[in-house]
Parts: sequence; C-alpha cells; structure tokens
Amino acid sequence: MSKKLCTFAKSFMDKNDKPILIAGPCSVESREQLQQVTRELTAIPQLRLIRGGVWKPRTRPGGFEGLGEPALQWMKELQESDLRMADGSHVRFCCEVASPEHVALCLHYGINAFWLGARTTANPFMVEEIGEALRGTDTLVMVKNPLSPDLRLWLGAFERIAQVGIKNLAAIHRGFSMYNNQGYRNAPLWELPLHLRRVMPDLPLICDPSHIGGTRKLIEPLSTAAVQLEYDGLMVEVHPHPADALTDAPQQLTPADFAALVKRLADFQTQQPSSADSHLLPLRQQIDDIDHELLRLLAQRMVLSQQIAHVKREQKMTVYQSKRWEAVMDDRLQLASQLNLDADFVRGLLEKIHSESIRVQMD
Ligand code: PEP
Ligand code: MN
Repeated sequence: MSKKLCTFAKSFMDKNDKPILIAGPCSVESREQLQQVTRELTAIPQLRLIRGGVWKPRTRPGGFEGLGEPALQWMKELQESDLRMADGSHVRFCCEVASPEHVALCLHYGINAFWLGARTTANPFMVEEIGEALRGTDTLVMVKNPLSPDLRLWLGAFERIAQVGIKNLAAIHRGFSMYNNQGYRNAPLWELPLHLRRVMPDLPLICDPSHIGGTRKLIEPLSTAAVQLEYDGLMVEVHPHPADALTDAPQQLTPADFAALVKRLADFQTQQPSSADSHLLPLRQQIDDIDHELLRLLAQRMVLSQQIAHVKREQKMTVYQSKRWEAVMDDRLQLASQLNLDADFVRGLLEKIHSESIRVQMD
C-alpha cells in the first residue's frame, strides 16, 4: 500500500505528541455511566478520544450485545454539551462499527470516529461494504488487527478503506487469537505490528493493552512495552465501576487508575533524555563492532559454502546432506546452551543461515 494513501489529520494524530490516548468503557451501559466516565476522563491531559462500545460482537450467544441507538444519542448529547477535554476541545467519541448500517447511524448522531473490530477486519466483504458507507465522509477510521496473525488481511482492510478516500487512518494492535495465547487473552505477537509499521511507517500505531491482556494487572506492563516500542498511542478500557461492567469486567480500569497509569507513562517518557545517551554510547559502539564482525564472518561462511558446492558437484553429492545438518544443529545447540543462549533463537538463526547456504550452493 502506498504511503500516500495515508495522510493523517495533524489535529488528531500528531505523532510527535505521544502517546495519543483513547480511553472509555468497553460498552456504553447507561446514560449515567457514560456521563460519569466522560466527566472523569476529560480531566486527563493528553486524552484525545473517548471510546464506547455501542454494538458488541460476542463470541458466544447470550451476553450483553450493546444498547445501539440510545448510546449514540447520549454520546451526541455529551459531544454537544459544555463539557470540554483537558485541551479545551469538544468531547469526541469513537465506537466500533461492524456494518454499513452502523456507519449510517453513527453519522446521523454526529459520531465520526470509528474502529473496525478484529472480527470485521477478518471479513473483506464487510470491510468493503463499510468502506462504501464511508465514501465521501471526513472520518477517522482505526482498524484493529484481524483475529488471526495475518498481516496481508490487516493491510487489505487499510487498502479497502483508503480506496474510498478516507485519509485519516490508524492501526490498533489488540493481539491475536491463538490456541496457546502465552498467558494473554490475545497473544501480542509484537513482531507483526512492528512489521506493519515497517511497511506503513506513517500510519499511527495504537496499542490496545486491554484486549491483549484481558486482566487489569497486565495493562501497565503492556502499555509500558508499547511505549518502549514507540507506539503512537494507547486505547484502554476504563469503566467507573469495573467490577460491575456488563462486558470485559476483569480488564477495565477505573478512571483514577487510568489517570495514575498515564502519569507514570509520562514520567517514564520524560526520563528518556540525553543523560541515558552517555551510558548507552560505549555499549552501542560495542554492539556495532560485534554486528560488523558477525557480518564479516557470515560473508566468509558463504564463501566456504560456494567452495563446498564445487566439491559436492565434483563428487556428485547432493547439496542437502541431512545427516551433516542434524550433526551441525546438535553441536551448535550444545554450545548455545553452554553460552546461555535461547535454544529457539539459535535454532531459528541457524535455519536461516543454512537455507541461505543451500541457496548459494544451488546458484
Ligand atoms: C472492543 O474494543 O471492545 C472489542 C470488542 O474489540 P476487539 O475487536 O478487539 O475484540
Ligand atoms: Mn472490550
């Protein structure tokens, strides 16, 4: 996807003013709940948008599925009220849309910031239909990663939304649904959103620690990890009384806990300046030297692979020699264990080197 498809409204997504904060309840449950959480959240500096689920996709039937239109009416009332965000701007809500009808209703009630949920991103037909409903609108569209770790599916959703002329886009990383979720509600698989950022460096990348973690105690470590990885923002579920929440009760924070987390994250960021650099510089120099040496050694290793290929051709031997490869792997893994290196990491690295060696020998 061309970077040009994504130009971001500075007023909302200024990447220099990190992290962009979005918070609010998993679901809008009553006018009072929405009013209370909005009042408390507007006191938090840096908060850009308030989230609130209006239609809730439930994995299994029987749960609370959201209030629909009445929730939009309460959002509209608050957006038009005297209440202001900490920076003086009007209150602004965002919610999940899962169909063109949802988009039309939101627009009718003056809601113009949306996200596509993980289940919708996984459905190209629905993304296309939602895109058509968005054509010609000046809206912000955030796209959550699909349930499965499929970068192309995620990219495809951006392409479908961008092709109807929506310029204000952002990505939300909410983790991936795996059989083994590594102790999370949804496995983070950080390398995947980081890959997305390499492909689309101008696209704001927002972390949703609530749906990755699934429990309150994981929100802070996950948010800190996102800040460390230079994410552009966070979307966190906040409820005035989390224990009574109708959806996602175990993962929602109180407004006070969220405010305290924001403060700690801001302190963490201001501790980053140049004083760290004088300590880092000599260490980074050594890392640079080691990387250069590793590359020189790899180049030498590839020259040896070419010589081996020559000998194998003369001896009429096949390129791939499974017994030798197994012996090499066993030997290296033993050394890795003595050196306290992670076995999976070393295995992966050697497999990469070996396939490059095979490629060189086949050339
Ligand atoms: C949500 O944000 O409340 C939600 C249902 O998200 P997801 O699509 O990530 O499951
Ligand atoms: Mn939720």
